Amino acid sequence: MHIVIAQMSHETNTFSPVLTDLARFAGGRDAPMSGDVARDVYRGTASCMGGYLKVAEEAGADISIPVVAGAPPSGPVEDDAYEYITGKIVEAAGLGCDAIFLDLHGAMVTRSVDDGEGELLRRIRAVAPRVPIAVALDMHANLYPDIVELATLVYGYHTYPHIDMDVTAEHAGRLLLRTLRGEAHPTMVWGNAPMLPHVMRQGTDDFPNDRLQARASEMESQGALAVSVFTGFPHADIANAGLSVVVVTDDDEALAERYRDELLDFAWGEREAFVYEVEPLEDSVARANTLADAGGPVLLLDHYDNTASGGTMDTTEVLAEILRQGLEDVAVFGFFDPEAVATMVAAGVGNEVCIALGGKLEMPALARQSRPLELAGRVKLISEGRFRATVPMSRGLTMNMGTTAVLSVGSVDIVVVSRHIEPFDPGCFRSLGIEPTERRFLMLKSRIHYRTGFKPLVKEVVECAGLGVCTSDYSEVTFENVRRPIFPLDGINSPERF
Ligand SMILES: [Zn+2]
Repeated sequence: MHIVIAQMSHETNTFSPVLTDLARFAGGRDAPMSGDVARDVYRGTASCMGGYLKVAEEAGADISIPVVAGAPPSGPVEDDAYEYITGKIVEAAGLGCDAIFLDLHGAMVTRSVDDGEGELLRRIRAVAPRVPIAVALDMHANLYPDIVELATLVYGYHTYPHIDMDVTAEHAGRLLLRTLRGEAHPTMVWGNAPMLPHVMRQGTDDFPNDRLQARASEMESQGALAVSVFTGFPHADIANAGLSVVVVTDDDEALAERYRDELLDFAWGEREAFVYEVEPLEDSVARANTLADAGGPVLLLDHYDNTASGGTMDTTEVLAEILRQGLEDVAVFGFFDPEAVATMVAAGVGNEVCIALGGKLEMPALARQSRPLELAGRVKLISEGRFRATVPMSRGLTMNMGTTAVLSVGSVDIVVVSRHIEPFDPGCFRSLGIEPTERRFLMLKSRIHYRTGFKPLVKEVVECAGLGVCTSDYSEVTFENVRRPIFPLDGINSPERF
């Protein structure tokens, strides 16, 4: 048996000015990984590739890995990068195989197409019309009909933070092999609801997504083969952004439709609980300061500028307010500012520097713009910026922050990186000699993923509305392409979805 396993993964924030070229998919290498190199990197890791490899290796299959291309969320994918990645996968499919395992995020928008994954599937089907295809998707997928109609089965994560990526791919892979053996006959239906759940309200610790995902899992023990609730990614201004459901049953379309409708009805009925209420930044920082009197660490979450939602990772508003209100003993992660890193490297460890930190990437999608923060401080540390993830999300994978420097401004330590990375693993501090549990305050540019590594370490979390292209205030960006009416942009009051 010959199985092709490939990854094409990107969550596109159409409001993000960050360039998504092939280099971003290559992760610091000359080109995206493939073959044995990719196999060695991903085997045994908590990732979709890790899950697929486990299934294929246990089955004794010959494995081809034409490309593993995942880029941190950012703006629309450049056409040449898309052609390169899809070309590798289509070429491998065209050579012939018994099955294809795809790790696709599900929210890829390119310069030319809104449905990057659907277009990939169309191209694969042109050369391999009948080969069974399993697709693993992120919970933030924005679904179009093609992916469901052209894949054999589609399955998404049940957790956010995404701590079940490997489990998701394993399930999809095993189900596809059962299909190959004639033991299962996947029947797949899907649907969406006209709603854009706020990302800050999508965590699976919280109602209502906890209930939605639990019910999806329950359905899998009550006759369904695979049930996925995709909360969607609202910062892609495309027609089909938003919440959707895919149900796979064993040749039982009526059951699939019943389960789909139950989940969509529940999500729609609880749509108000997916709306995020914004607290003014000044109030949040002041509240954090008060909370710290009862002991730390208190985590200040700079969630408008989360790189894993397409943020530039360089807006300065939350840090500026922290400094203005005089918070002491703060560890900050972090700022993407290769220019500032270069300045600190040139100055050398232990020396004083004056830098203009962040605020360098213009955000044309926003009316408000960030500005560099003029800081005088000491270069505390310089690092190559690599560590091994140990938290359930991405466990075993090497995280690459690029050349990294720590700037100390009084008792505030600011990590400055050269590659976009979300701080979800405390290794981002510990690899730099900063022990997060010993600090009074932490500031993280994250939204929900921090929970996997940091929530157990902190006493309190205060969500801070800063500035950025993953703003949790929808009125700050202009939606031109998403289907209308849609909740909450249009405040639909009807109990009916359609
Ligand atoms: Zn996601």
